[in-house]
Amino acid sequence: MNIALIAHDEKKQSMAGFSIAYSQVLKNHNLYATGTTGSLITEATHLPVHRFQSGPKGGDQQIGAMVANNEMDMIIFFRDPLTAQPHEPDVSALMRLCDVHLIPIATNMAAGEILIRALERGDFHWREIVKQNRQDLNK
Ligand code: PGA
Repeated sequence: MNIALIAHDEKKQSMAGFSIAYSQVLKNHNLYATGTTGSLITEATHLPVHRFQSGPKGGDQQIGAMVANNEMDMIIFFRDPLTAQPHEPDVSALMRLCDVHLIPIATNMAAGEILIRALERGDFHWREIVKQNRQDLNK
C-alpha cells in the first residue's frame, strides 16, 4: 500500500512517536510524506520515506495528485486545528480529493491508530482490487 504521512508543526512530535509505535506495520508499505514530516519519520524510524515538497510549498498538492491518479491508498494527516495554516486551501483540497476518490484519511492520531490497525488486519485489500481493475480498464 502507498501511505502518506503528514503532520502540522505542532503535531510533528506526535507523528514521530506514532511512526515509531507502528514502524513494524509501516515498514511493509511504501511511505510518502511532506518534506519536514518525512525527514522526521526517517530520523525516528530509519524507514525509507519518499519526501515531497514541504506542505506549505506544495507537498499537500503533490500528495493530492497521487490521490487523483489513484496511486495513494491511505493518508494519515495529523492536523493542528488551533493554528492558522498559510496553506489551508491546499489542506482542504487534499481532503476534498480523498472524499472524491474514497481514499481513507485520518486527520488525528486517534483515527490514525484505527486505520493502521485496520491495515494490519488486511481491511484495505479492496484497494488492491480497485487498482487492478483500473489497470485492466486502461489496457
Ligand atoms: P511539512 O508539511 O511536513 O513539510 O512540515 C506539513 C504541512 O504543514 O502540511
